[in-house]
Amino acid sequence: MTEKDCLFCKIIRGEIPSDKVYENDLIYAFRDIAPAAPEHILIIPKKHIASLNDIETEDKMLFGEIMYRASVLAKELGFSEQGYRTVANTLDHGGQTVHHFHLHLIAGRQMTWPPG
Ligand code: AMP
Repeated sequence: MTEKDCLFCKIIRGEIPSDKVYENDLIYAFRDIAPAAPEHILIIPKKHIASLNDIETEDKMLFGEIMYRASVLAKELGFSEQGYRTVANTLDHGGQTVHHFHLHLIAGRQMTWPPG
């Protein structure tokens, strides 16, 4: 999968519409098209990184930015106190379907454990 063909790279470039909730030089956040809960946001790096397997040393700050933004959005959107779940699925056993790293930020209902 190249950046040219990647669904989430196309969203970042504006070639496919999205419901954006946040953007800066490094990251982009938008609402999931098939929400698994009342709140379901995806936070992605603008750099095409296929999965957690593909993080390089130079990306450590970028992934701090992604987690930091999850925390800020949870507060801004008003679900930080009730709680929420952050998930990053990786490859087949993890259930990853889009091969551009994304952190799911899911809230608004009681979650269960273990995951399916
Ligand atoms: P995963 O299965 O962990 O790879 O998650 C991929 C997520 O991307 C799923 O929750 C999909 O609903 C979501 N998704 C796929 N296409 C779009 C799109 N065009 N806009 C927003 N979310 C999408």
